[in-house]
Amino acid sequence: MYAAPFEYHLPTTVAEALGLLEKFGDEAKLLSGSQSLVPLMKLRLATPGHVVDLRKVPGLSGVTESGGTVVIGAMTTHYEVGSSPLVRTKLPMMAEAAGQIGDTQVRNLGTIGGSLAHADPSADWPAVLAALDASVRIASSRGERNVKVEELIVGPLTTVLAPGEILLQVRVPLPAGRYGGAYEKLPHPASRFAIVGAAAEVFLDPGGKVSNSRIALTGIASKVTRAGYVEQALLGKAPDPAAIKSAAARAAQGIEVRADLTGSAEYKANLAAVYTERAVKRAVSRALER
Ligand SMILES: Cc1cc2nc3c(=O)[nH]c(=O)nc-3n(C[C@H](O)[C@H](O)[C@H](O)COP(=O)(O)OP(=O)(O)OC[C@H]3O[C@@H](n4cnc5c(N)ncnc54)[C@H](O)[C@@H]3O)c2cc1C
Repeated sequence: MYAAPFEYHLPTTVAEALGLLEKFGDEAKLLSGSQSLVPLMKLRLATPGHVVDLRKVPGLSGVTESGGTVVIGAMTTHYEVGSSPLVRTKLPMMAEAAGQIGDTQVRNLGTIGGSLAHADPSADWPAVLAALDASVRIASSRGERNVKVEELIVGPLTTVLAPGEILLQVRVPLPAGRYGGAYEKLPHPASRFAIVGAAAEVFLDPGGKVSNSRIALTGIASKVTRAGYVEQALLGKAPDPAAIKSAAARAAQGIEVRADLTGSAEYKANLAAVYTERAVKRAVSRALER
């Protein structure tokens, strides 16, 4: 099916893009990598009257480090994130997640900002960025604000972004001390979206015990969700295989697990435990290498 008719805009500055959003309000949709919006438009599940393409707006892509924070432009493609030397050395969990998104075309066109704004409950970036305690920088004609990734996404395909707002950057604080992160997912065999994905960032104290952890799951609930019971169970423990297995068994505890076409709630809860165990094990071994 073809998309419903719309007017196409190609602004060349953020200010111009914001002006167009202000002018057309609910009728306007931003376009980044087109990998999620265009399929929805072709199915007529989205029928924006105005499409504002961000492709020609400079300054929205690239990966840099500033004051202990890795700053990633919203228009940075999955491929560019995954191949950034900064990301590969300092945030290897992000590089391994980027390489598992979709296929080559999706990774070359789809963007990190588009993925967060689209808020698919099975997407990879929300889990990885929640585990890394990342925020996003958002602009509107009224000014700019920061929002934690965990608070950005409120439900399936739903965020706190208001009409008129543009996601500018993803900001990832560089972890300090002895830490390691890892991402594990069971990909859907056709789309590669996560049937279940687990992202774990684990911090060890000088004695080798877990001093903190952040574990986030995708694919099992209506939005990215922290596995709080696993985090609690790991705290203060020596992260040996038995302790990790026992903590990971609680992955779905307290989470309203959602059945979907890829499996029942029971199946997904079991996968959450299995993939959390794998992610925590690898995160711990990365922390031990530091
Ligand atoms: C075949 C296929 C397989 C895929 N597999 C995976 C997978 O394995 N894992 C995964 O995580 N994802 C997967 N995706 C989704 C992919 O990652 C998309 O790139 C992503 O969801 C959307 O990014 P985009 O840049 O293409 O955004 P677009 O499609 O251009 O936009 C998506 C939404 O975000 C809004 N938007 C875009 N940019 C901004 C901005 N800067 N500020 C505010 N709002 C904005 C748009 O208005 C729209 O509502 C897959 C997609 C396809 C087609």
